Amino acid sequence: MADQYDLIVIGAGPGGYIAAIRGAQLGMKVAIVEREHMAGICSNWGCIPTKALLRSAEIYGHMTHAKDYGLSADTFGFDIPGIVKRSRAIAAQMNNGVQFLMKKNKVDIIWGEAEITKPGEIKVAPTKKKIVEPQGPVPKNALGEGTYKAKNIIIATGARPRVLPGIEPDGDKIWTYFEAMKPETMPKSVVVMGSGAIGVEFASFYRSLGAEVTIIELLPQIMPVEDAEIAGLARKRFEKRGIKILTDAKVTKVDKTKDGVTAHVELKDGKTEQISGEKLISAVGVQCNIEGLGLEKVGVKTERGAIVIDAYGKTNVEGIWAIGDVAGPPMLAHKAEHEAVVTVEKIAGLKVHGLDKTKVPGCTYCEPQVASVGLTEAKAKESGREIKVGRFPFVGNGKAIALGEPDGLVKTIFDAKTGELLGAHMIGAEVTELIQGFVVAMNLETTEEELIHTIFPHPTLSETMKESVLDAYGRALNI
Ligand SMILES: Cc1cc2nc3c(=O)[nH]c(=O)nc-3n(C[C@H](O)[C@H](O)[C@H](O)COP(=O)(O)OP(=O)(O)OC[C@H]3O[C@@H](n4cnc5c(N)ncnc54)[C@H](O)[C@@H]3O)c2cc1C
Repeated sequence: MADQYDLIVIGAGPGGYIAAIRGAQLGMKVAIVEREHMAGICSNWGCIPTKALLRSAEIYGHMTHAKDYGLSADTFGFDIPGIVKRSRAIAAQMNNGVQFLMKKNKVDIIWGEAEITKPGEIKVAPTKKKIVEPQGPVPKNALGEGTYKAKNIIIATGARPRVLPGIEPDGDKIWTYFEAMKPETMPKSVVVMGSGAIGVEFASFYRSLGAEVTIIELLPQIMPVEDAEIAGLARKRFEKRGIKILTDAKVTKVDKTKDGVTAHVELKDGKTEQISGEKLISAVGVQCNIEGLGLEKVGVKTERGAIVIDAYGKTNVEGIWAIGDVAGPPMLAHKAEHEAVVTVEKIAGLKVHGLDKTKVPGCTYCEPQVASVGLTEAKAKESGREIKVGRFPFVGNGKAIALGEPDGLVKTIFDAKTGELLGAHMIGAEVTELIQGFVVAMNLETTEEELIHTIFPHPTLSETMKESVLDAYGRALNI
């Protein structure tokens, strides 16, 4: 029997649906298999609904100091069901948007759970996984159970919350991001285990709406992948907002009590502490969805729980490719999307650059925001290079002052010999929108000279970026 498809993609998250669209653009006959929700974790339970929650928290935060802007907002408040409703509606809108895109690009949707039976063939069965409610709508005209054949298969099955033994989420007192995304009432206190982007964003959201929040982090630094100086500033700002932070701290046990939970924490000095809260959010990372896909049967190699690929998404088995979270860190939607395009273009035989993981930006939408790309100062030093470091605080920027956002810092790291921009790290208002300037610069292999010759518009927060570059070369103007 001839192949039904040129390409079958398993999983309709940002990796999968972008792969399907790019395949269709390149003239392939494409199908995408999804078992739970079009648009994946990103749009349904990740990137987008969290940003909707954080936007409500941000506006509420502005209202609390309306007076500083010469405004009066004597009566204001929040309504948790209303905040959650808005976030869920936005998730649904994204889900529908991806269904529309599949239709527009003539991509067949196959609804169910896929397993690879042999290279070039999958079997789709009704979903066995327990679905998280509310489930996205099943797309109209979706195909169902059956065996489907394709020249190439891309696995884009994403990830799920990592669970620590003995601290299993119960959906009531111990939450993962699923429950934290749709609280029915506002908890009085929340213990957040883990200070990566997910943990810190939820800590920020719940604190903004008045909960007592404690973050417990195993490593010496919160936001462990970020530059130490920026993470240190974030910590200070969080503590100023009333968030309690324990680092070098290991949760050894969680007891459920009548009113919530008590986390038993072992500290570096051997002392122990007990932290109680109404809810505990377990945010200790994610685990790839590699089970039930037939990987062992067809011999696809995995390592440390992720599918092993090269820079073009190729696995060790001819015709089987993997992208996004299931192919390992960084577990970010934009990495999944980029990997999708690279992989499909490689399948199509186009000349393509492999994914360069050193240039994947990271953004955390807590208050204050944190964003970065490239090497941290510590990593740049470790690489043995002589470096130049520039810093520019938001307090020297007119737009930041006008916005009432004077707390922030842009830090840039250059190779002292070549002027190559090695890394950029930012904290402050809207830095998640600013970082892209440095990402483009790094991709174009820009040096300090070209950045200094670039005109940045005034008044914008982006001027802090240029000033940081100037500072690395002893030439900052506004400080
Ligand atoms: C709370 C939270 C906030 C986040 N915020 C951000 C952010 O701000 N920015 C950012 O870049 N990233 C963020 N992320 C990470 C981001 O969501 C993921 O990196 C991204 O969704 C990965 O995309 P993916 O396509 O690899 O997988 P997913 O989005 O996980 O999609 C995989 C899809 O495959 C389906 N699937 C799995 N197995 C099968 C099977 N056997 N058959 C059929 N279908 C299957 C799943 O149902 C799912 O829809 C966040 C994550 C969380 C949890």
